[in-house]
Amino acid sequence: MKIPTRGKPARTSAWKDKAACAAPGIDPDIFHAGEREPEQVDEARVVCNGCPVRTACLTAAYEEGDMWGIRSGLTPRQRNAHLRKAEGNIARAVTEALDDVTVLLRHLYEVHTQPTGDGHLLWTDNRHFINVRGKPYTVHQLAWLAIHGQPSVGHVQRTCDRESCVSEACLADRATRKQTRPRHERPVDRWPPSPRDGPGSDPGR
Ligand code: SF4
Ligand SMILES: [Zn+2]
Repeated sequence: MKIPTRGKPARTSAWKDKAACAAPGIDPDIFHAGEREPEQVDEARVVCNGCPVRTACLTAAYEEGDMWGIRSGLTPRQRNAHLRKAEGNIARAVTEALDDVTVLLRHLYEVHTQPTGDGHLLWTDNRHFINVRGKPYTVHQLAWLAIHGQPSVGHVQRTCDRESCVSEACLADRATRKQTRPRHERPVDRWPPSPRDGPGSDPGR
């Protein structure tokens, strides 16, 4: 039975260029072997487990309504089970199936933001903390993880003057702020600093 899905359609199929199953020497038939041929299914799973685009592949499988192939190491029956548990929400199903919370964070970031038309992206939800799988995220933490797929280094700050803006271009963590600081203001990387580094040089800033 096909479960009705909720979620935005995939915007790009560029991920297919990196698909491990498209590499020379991989037999495409193992991805369509069916559950009656467990050895081939296992073989397909090994390829999927080392694939760098598992998240995109699984999201696409749900959006395309793929009822046949092994995708991201999951059979159609397993995919359906995750989708049913997630009540048809694709982002939640992918998050649960791959244990990858960034999928859900990206989904929330898309749903709760609105472009301004002049380069900014405003957060539209009025909560200060968003609970995702039992963990509270600040809006800036959520936006950073959704954009970069990894936690920030130190606090994330808005660099523009638009209240609630969470555009990629307008958020900076400590590491980004260091990189964008004028050269004469950047901390030195060695300790103790040379007298030529000038007064007040502090590598820990
Ligand atoms: S996850 Fe598996 S089926 Fe999907 S692109 Fe990667 S190797 Fe192919
Ligand atoms: Zn902005």
